[in-house]
Amino acid sequence: MAPRLSAVSLVSLACALECLCGCGTGTQQRRSIASPSAIVRPVLAEQSTGATVPATPATTKSSLAPAPAPAPAPAPALALALALAGRVITIDPGHNGGNFTHPQEIGRLVNDGNGEKECDTTGTAAPDGYRETDFNWSVAVRLHALLVAQGARVVMTRQSNTGIGPCITERAAIGNRAHSAAAISIHADGGPTSGSGFAILIPAPIPGGGDQAIVAPSRRLALALRPALERAGLHPSTYDGVDGLAPRTDLGGLNLSRVPKVFVEVANMQNRADEAPMERASFREGVARALLAGLERFLANG
Ligand SMILES: [Zn+2]
Repeated sequence: MAPRLSAVSLVSLACALECLCGCGTGTQQRRSIASPSAIVRPVLAEQSTGATVPATPATTKSSLAPAPAPAPAPAPALALALALAGRVITIDPGHNGGNFTHPQEIGRLVNDGNGEKECDTTGTAAPDGYRETDFNWSVAVRLHALLVAQGARVVMTRQSNTGIGPCITERAAIGNRAHSAAAISIHADGGPTSGSGFAILIPAPIPGGGDQAIVAPSRRLALALRPALERAGLHPSTYDGVDGLAPRTDLGGLNLSRVPKVFVEVANMQNRADEAPMERASFREGVARALLAGLERFLANG
């Protein structure tokens, strides 16, 4: 039975088809949500994989009807454009605006899956005072809108930029409870002033093997995100990881995740050349679009 398409999905499909005619990544321009915390219904609710091939009807012994012709494989651009439809994506904007004034709440130790760590931290800030949490939130809201426009169901680990936390344990749990197809934590780094570039932090195997199942798919997610960030004009970190990838065992958000997850340290806020663009909305929008393209690629290949 062919999937039923809602009016919204028809719009998405029409746009996807337009992409066959030249928009390349399938990235759409529409931004249609009123609230970043909104969770929308999947566009293609009957397709959990995002595939475009309808389910095959059950066959019976007495059926003499000719078998229906197999549906053509989706064109790459269409597959990319529909890769997010109906999928659950968790966005984890690092830190929170209220963390600065609640050091005791965020400073308590929690089990990060491989030791103990603070519940949450304030994040870094640029020398001029522009805060990492503000950057993270702005990119997250933009990515949320882009994902919803592609038919994804989006779960946010926090609903504003003025609250406290949540703890790193809860940030992981939110993605797990949602059975996310992918989770992405958005950060910026406070690295050496001479260093620049992005680093994608990926889970490395931890004692006990709690993250064993997500090590490989999280790396695939990172490998899908890296070229998208490079196309947006960013470059792999000059000081963290290798070729933009940095395996970690000390991050609760990764250790405790049971769904593919990465942290993206978009740039170094302590480096003047790296940080200046971060304060521009157009740069943050470009980062969000790069993350969208990477997520599309990851799911289309999955
Ligand atoms: Zn951070």
